[in-house]
Amino acid sequence: MKYYSTNKQAPQATLHEAVVKGLAPDKGLYMPETINKLPKEFFDHIEDLSFQEIAYEVAKAWFGEDVEAEALKQIVYDTLAFDVPAVKVEEDIYSLELFHGPTLAFKDVGARFMARLLQYFVKQEGLDKINVLVATSGDTGSAVANGFLGVDGIRVYVLYPKGKVSKIQESQFTTLGKNITAIEVDGVFDDCQALVKNAFMDEELNKHMKLTSANSINVARFLPQAFYYFYAYAQLKKLGKADNMVVCVPSGNFGNICAGIFGWVSGLPVKRFIAANNANDIFYKYLQSGKYEPKPSKQTLANAMDVGDPSNFARIYDLFKGDHAKITSLISGATYTDEQIQETMKQCFAETGYILDPHGTCGYRALKEGLKPGETGVFLETAHPAKFKEKVDAIIGGDVAIPERLQAFMRGEKKNIEMKNSFEDFKAFLMKE
Ligand SMILES: *Cc1c(COP(=O)(O)O)cnc(C)c1O
Repeated sequence: MKYYSTNKQAPQATLHEAVVKGLAPDKGLYMPETINKLPKEFFDHIEDLSFQEIAYEVAKAWFGEDVEAEALKQIVYDTLAFDVPAVKVEEDIYSLELFHGPTLAFKDVGARFMARLLQYFVKQEGLDKINVLVATSGDTGSAVANGFLGVDGIRVYVLYPKGKVSKIQESQFTTLGKNITAIEVDGVFDDCQALVKNAFMDEELNKHMKLTSANSINVARFLPQAFYYFYAYAQLKKLGKADNMVVCVPSGNFGNICAGIFGWVSGLPVKRFIAANNANDIFYKYLQSGKYEPKPSKQTLANAMDVGDPSNFARIYDLFKGDHAKITSLISGATYTDEQIQETMKQCFAETGYILDPHGTCGYRALKEGLKPGETGVFLETAHPAKFKEKVDAIIGGDVAIPERLQAFMRGEKKNIEMKNSFEDFKAFLMKE
């Protein structure tokens, strides 16, 4: 299958090229030219299949032309070596727990898939060493670093904003060593993202080293996130609750929800989507007004959603050919302040005993406020609450238990490189690598 750029000024790319390039040469985002539909029979008995089996069927429909069947199966099965249960929080509201992977957040899925796919291409075609550049506001860095850790022929540089990432998050990509380098940038997330984007555009740098991106813009990261939407449907179907499924996605850069929408395009019966935002409400405002007006990001409690110019908006816009009415008929929005996040996390814990993380809190609240009679809501619980332990403990007045695999990261020794928010400095550093 071929991939085109949302800016329409770049040649079409193969999956391999789209994955290695990350961003298209015209700075657009790659989109699959066709989105193959899953057959009706698949949905008829989806509830009898395991997560891995479901994911492999979806993967075959989307990547089957480009990756040899046995290898693709291996990639999918290795990627999804953990469960993603839909847990009932209260009547008609389910939490799709995406935090049972190695770094306790949903980005493990996309990052692990991408690492394995890239490794497949490297092996298959004997490519030179590849360098992955990734900007993170928290969870991307840890997921990508862990997804690629120890993978031969690939070097990873994680750029993160100084003082804007929790200690626990930081420990998950600064303590790994091996092929992972952590760079602490004196700036905000958008600065880190700009440094990465500039690096891809720099001719001299690209001659010096083969660069690729592992941000949620990469097709190999964002598309596999659709797998768990199908699995959520299968789980609800088993309970007889799948008929009017509403999926609510705590959104920042909009890669996650975008994957769900691609699932919907390929036939997944989602009735509608809700994009839950924190105070960074660019998309919410777009839904209201039809105008997309990026702004500098604001720091909030749900820091992995602090994005002022969500990259994947371009994909949603392209998919619907900019038709605002079509977009708003499928997707609605919500936006919450830090005070509302605190209030809701507390309320949910008091009434149900379920501990939400700050991101999932936005999703839960949007369902509580927006669900209509007869609908069943699933919100994506995008990270384990222990990743934000200090905040969560203070809000609910409790003591969130830290899973052992998180404690192991925190015992590691921090190794990082400090850098000014300057492309010249960043380039000079990479030119010496
Ligand atoms: C990255 C992240 C989000 C936002 O996901 P997008 O795909 O960028 O919209 C939400 N919650 C958590 C915990 C995250 O790490």
